[in-house]
Amino acid sequence: MRLVRFTSGNITSFGVLEGEQIRQLAGDPYSEIKESGESFALADVKLLAPVEPKKIVLVGLNFASHAAEIHQETPSEPLIFFKPTSAIVASGEAIVLPHQSKQVEIEAELTVVIGKRANNIAQENVGDYILGYTVANDVTARDIQFADLQWARSKAFDSFCPVGPWIETDFVPDNKRISSTINGETKQDASTSEMVYSPEFLISYISQNFTLEPGDIVLTGSPAGISRVVAGDVVQCSIEGIGTLHSFVK
Ligand code: MG
Repeated sequence: MRLVRFTSGNITSFGVLEGEQIRQLAGDPYSEIKESGESFALADVKLLAPVEPKKIVLVGLNFASHAAEIHQETPSEPLIFFKPTSAIVASGEAIVLPHQSKQVEIEAELTVVIGKRANNIAQENVGDYILGYTVANDVTARDIQFADLQWARSKAFDSFCPVGPWIETDFVPDNKRISSTINGETKQDASTSEMVYSPEFLISYISQNFTLEPGDIVLTGSPAGISRVVAGDVVQCSIEGIGTLHSFVK
């Protein structure tokens, strides 16, 4: 099932996307997926980012290929950091280059959407706490990442977290292609099976350190091929079995 968030007139809702139609949900999809009985044509609405998280949690250096290209070792435990929720933009919206950086790069990442409050969850039970998966781009000002002691500023600029276009609830993250293009040219092309730590392991690990809330998202790390973008570029981040997140750069 594809879950979207959309706006039409003065309505903002979650919905189930099937073909070109959206069936509106009565509330949010976290406690139960209950339809309102109303439906909308996809062409008549604006799709929003499919989540409104309280936290954006990210995992660094979770592909050996990416760790190597930025001259880092893969960590002996997951490396966890955050982005502010103010960085979120929807599919189809702009990544805005900040004047502070001369090296803004894209990172396509498989993204877990939490469905249920998760605290200290065993790995075998993690599936009960995942609503589904989406695509996100961990946009990074690489020059600032290495100039600052902390990664926070380099990852946090407004628009540095494109997410979407929807949540796929039936996705299984076993061996799925994860890729990105800039102006149609492939930059990243890998398999989710290359991750150092699996999404299930990561959600369990994170939940043992702090509580994940419904709607929180976890970006599970980028494969090699991170590439600089400049104004005018068109970026696509794709995950087989979910879909394609579209952005443009300005
Ligand atoms: Mg990343």
